[in-house]
Amino acid sequence: MEMELRTVDSLDAALDVLADRGADCQVLAGGTDVMIQLARGEIAPAVLLHVENVPELQGVSANGATRIGSLVTHRALAKGLLGPRYRALAEAAGTVGGLQTQSVGTLGGNVCNASPAADTLPALLVHDAQVALRGRAGSRTVPLEEFVVGRRATTRRPDELLTEIVLATPPECTGDVYLKVGRRSAMEVAIVGLAMRLTFDGDDVTDARIALAAVGPRPLRSPAAEAALIGSRLEPRAIETAVDAVLRDISPIDDLRGSADYRRRVVPGLLERAAGICAQRAGRTPEHEE
Ligand SMILES: Cc1cc2nc3c(=O)[nH]c(=O)nc-3n(C[C@H](O)[C@H](O)[C@H](O)COP(=O)(O)OP(=O)(O)OC[C@H]3O[C@@H](n4cnc5c(N)ncnc54)[C@H](O)[C@@H]3O)c2cc1C
Repeated sequence: MEMELRTVDSLDAALDVLADRGADCQVLAGGTDVMIQLARGEIAPAVLLHVENVPELQGVSANGATRIGSLVTHRALAKGLLGPRYRALAEAAGTVGGLQTQSVGTLGGNVCNASPAADTLPALLVHDAQVALRGRAGSRTVPLEEFVVGRRATTRRPDELLTEIVLATPPECTGDVYLKVGRRSAMEVAIVGLAMRLTFDGDDVTDARIALAAVGPRPLRSPAAEAALIGSRLEPRAIETAVDAVLRDISPIDDLRGSADYRRRVVPGLLERAAGICAQRAGRTPEHEE
């Protein structure tokens, strides 16, 4: 069967195609996942809907919340488009493949592809990201945690386009970070990715978010580990309790990149390091110790 390429230059035109052909259609943004999946025969859509020129999906706006257009590239995020409040997301975007992949690969594509090892997902999860979806039947906003439901599985309906990713403004005295273990620091899909965001009142942690990638069928938060850090001063006992909780929550597998055992063994070091960096970024300890 011949595949039809439909290139659109407005949101309206994109939604019309999806309303008509959504079930047979694959959205094409930067194509860094789609082109590989097509070449491997993993997908065979009747229609490729090329949305890269849709202006409504571009750019960032900050009006109370920060709204990131689905077409914003990893390169733009890595270069600091969002400023110092979202360093975890900039760091995650800066580890997605090499510069060429980052220059065309989009945040919306990373979210919709829903890989278990997607680097931006933990960084978005620690900021309670919401995804905005539009279809001819209407718009809806869904917490990212409910949008990605399994390996390469989302709750996007065939007639919907992901238009924006929405982040609330973090409180004062908050620091965040994304750390990735891979065979090479960039160019390589994560063996384990860990994002953390901590908020402090003096030395006390008042809010904690921890999310991981490549340790189960989808990136996930670890509420029990977060609870272990809330109310603590990041003393070793609190870190140990948080590590134990993460290790209970994750279900890593052996694959070409790393064994389940290796993935478990890197968690304690990553978590402890992330906590220290969050504390520094929140202004609790001198930045040069990072
Ligand atoms: C060499 C290489 C290295 C890579 N390394 C990494 C890595 O280290 N970490 C990592 O996380 N990823 C990595 N990737 C994967 C990929 O680059 C990212 O997932 C990227 O963000 C995908 O964005 P894209 O715009 O290219 O998406 P596309 O390939 O265009 O689309 C990806 C998926 O999202 C859907 N989609 C895209 N936009 C929308 C939208 N607005 N609404 C609805 N559906 C949409 C598509 O239909 C498709 O299912 C790598 C890829 C390559 C080729």
